[in-house]
Amino acid sequence: MQTIDQYLCLLDSYAYAVAEENAAGNTIVTAPTCGAAGVIPAVIMILEEHFHLDILTQRSGLLAAAAIGFIAKNNAGIVGAEVGCQGEIGVATAMAAAMIAQSQGYSPKVVENAAEIALEHQLGLTCDPVCGYVQIPCIERNAIGAVKACNAALIAENENSDTHMVSFDATVKAMGEIGRDMNSKFKETALGGLAVSMICC
Ligand code: SF4
Repeated sequence: MQTIDQYLCLLDSYAYAVAEENAAGNTIVTAPTCGAAGVIPAVIMILEEHFHLDILTQRSGLLAAAAIGFIAKNNAGIVGAEVGCQGEIGVATAMAAAMIAQSQGYSPKVVENAAEIALEHQLGLTCDPVCGYVQIPCIERNAIGAVKACNAALIAENENSDTHMVSFDATVKAMGEIGRDMNSKFKETALGGLAVSMICC
């Protein structure tokens, strides 16, 4: 019997592993981007290794994730330089949350709600990589995104899906608006935020 701490440690470790591969310039799958590539693999590993979901179920979950990523990309953006990190880690988290709900057999409405919850609470997330590298805050942010995806799916699966107030489309629209109005200092330029407040020697 594994404790919740053990699951969280595993989830964090999987996300770190992929994000560190990306930071080292090695091979990763952009899902939806390089900087946010650790979220979905971390969740897939948990689903496969610890909940023993078969390959067809995982594929079904990945298709749901792809649909969420496509909507976000098409209607707002998924690049930190365009919309900030809400479009990278935020969308990766939404994709992973949808994947979890779909792979557990929940309805399309629950899948949408899972993605919506995951993205809604990352609106406004800035991209301010310290020294311009995808190490701080990106590596740790992948682990946080993976955990958030699990919680978003959990909430969506346990609420009344018919009374969920916010649609995924509305959240994506808000993300696009926030991204367009976000100061360029916070969009992958490393000219503001954490990149400036943390002194690099
Ligand atoms: S902080 Fe910037 S570079 Fe890092 S994952 Fe987020 S959007 Fe990508």
